[in-house]
Amino acid sequence: MKKGGIFILSGPSGCGKNTVYEGLRALDPDIVQTVSATTRKPRPGERNGVDYYFETVEEFKRRIDNDEFVEYVTYGGNNYGTLKSEVERLTALGKTVVLVIEVRGALNIKRMFPEAVAVFIEPPSMEELIRRINKRGDNNETEIALRMNIAAEEMTYRDRYDYRVVNGELDTCIKEVYDIIKKETDQHDQH
Ligand code: 5GP
Repeated sequence: MKKGGIFILSGPSGCGKNTVYEGLRALDPDIVQTVSATTRKPRPGERNGVDYYFETVEEFKRRIDNDEFVEYVTYGGNNYGTLKSEVERLTALGKTVVLVIEVRGALNIKRMFPEAVAVFIEPPSMEELIRRINKRGDNNETEIALRMNIAAEEMTYRDRYDYRVVNGELDTCIKEVYDIIKKETDQHDQH
């Protein structure tokens, strides 16, 4: 597959976008994710510099002041932001760059990089989404309730994306997103 381009994988909390990304990467190691900065506390097993750059509110603010973010949002009471340095570094290496981010950030990226391709990962149903958020078991009850409310709101963004892919059967979903990346990268190359 040809390389390059920016792809946004987005969708509600619990839609499985991180798992879909892992599947894409297994198919092609030149598909790489930008590591975001966040003020959220690490979950068990998460590593600094791999899953996120885990930062204090002050450190995050300093980055905002230094204009280091392509986009940033507050989500569930924590800050998350895509670093310019990450996008530039991976783009320069000619990688296929994937941003796994929530919906407002996705639309901001689309405004800034109209050529970026935005894919919305949809749960097969709201019931299934609720089940997946509950199953995670890494959030407390207040956080689960908060995430469910956010997820319902996030679903309303789906029509604004270039593509929508239902994540019912994981492998099928990965394959569909992979085909989108392939198609878009090849088209882009021809122009
Ligand atoms: P979590 O706390 O579950 O890791 O992430 C919460 C939400 O923030 C998820 O939807 C995740 O994809 C999103 N997210 C992670 N990094 C970024 C970022 O840099 N920008 C935006 N806009 N969202 C992000």
